Amino acid sequence: MKIAFVGLGNMGSGMAANLVKAGHTVHAVDLNPDAVAQAVASGAIAATLPQACDSAQAVVTMLPAGKHVLAVHEDVRRLTPTDAILIDCSTIDIESARQAIALAAEAGFAMVDAPVSGGVAAAAGGTLTFMVGGTDDAFDHARPILEAMGKTIVHAGGSGAGQAAKVCNNMLLAITMVGTCEAFALAEKLGLKDQVFFDIASKASGQSWSMTSYCPVPGPVPASPANRDYQPGFAAGLMLKDLTLAMQAAAQANADTPLGAKAHALYDALCAQGHAGQDFSYMMERIRRGA
Ligand code: NAD
Repeated sequence: MKIAFVGLGNMGSGMAANLVKAGHTVHAVDLNPDAVAQAVASGAIAATLPQACDSAQAVVTMLPAGKHVLAVHEDVRRLTPTDAILIDCSTIDIESARQAIALAAEAGFAMVDAPVSGGVAAAAGGTLTFMVGGTDDAFDHARPILEAMGKTIVHAGGSGAGQAAKVCNNMLLAITMVGTCEAFALAEKLGLKDQVFFDIASKASGQSWSMTSYCPVPGPVPASPANRDYQPGFAAGLMLKDLTLAMQAAAQANADTPLGAKAHALYDALCAQGHAGQDFSYMMERIRRGA
């Protein structure tokens, strides 16, 4: 397939490389020439948006926020044949995702929102999880392309459902991470060694992914960012972005999310203290300090 790929940053570069490996002809578009050069080194073809969209069979976007997706897709709809599938993999607000899909449908395109879970390593390794929103036909059209970039592809529902699943999952992740940090900090103050508390809680009812796969203290889970001075991983700033989207969605849906709001306030404070670039499990240090 001829695929236009727009947004070759930390995530998009690995995803585009996997589309090339799967045998597709990938036309790489980014405002940043270094990002395009990296994609070309992985086998993609440097292109302008009109060149990439001309006769494209699919357009994949992996951009920072809703405003970028809406702006780029305005041009994509004008430049691309209507039998192409449009796939937006960015993490954006649900309203913008629905708007982009509605505008695409009006113009005759099938489009899905397909945000990802898994981070930079999974993007490079082709093991992302895709949460997909859109019609059955659009999902079936997008699936083979997503399979070249991911391991788990779930059809979450109609347009915007992928973004809905993503914000709910990441809100829960933030809450369990803060809770896990609190439990370790209290256990330490009560005289328990981290490893001892881990051995108990990881086998007891307090266990979660934040404890067993991403433990926020060094030692018990050697692969977790706590063992490499909290280098991401998944940066606190990105977690704050996702929590902001979750709080926006909760306000619009009139849903009560008191722990989500607290987690948002804590990550906001952590980022304001200059730690946006550190892994989100660096919350451990803030909770230990108590401020
Ligand atoms: P990034 O900032 O590294 O990459 C975004 C790229 O988009 C940049 O190269 C930028 O130059 C390009 N871009 C911006 N506007 C453009 C435009 N108008 N035309 C062409 N290119 C444009 O971001 P990232 O870390 O790759 O994340 C991309 C998306 O994936 C975000 O929505 C993020 O929330 C989501 N996400 C990131 C992670 C992660 O661990 N990094 C994990 C899951 C989801």
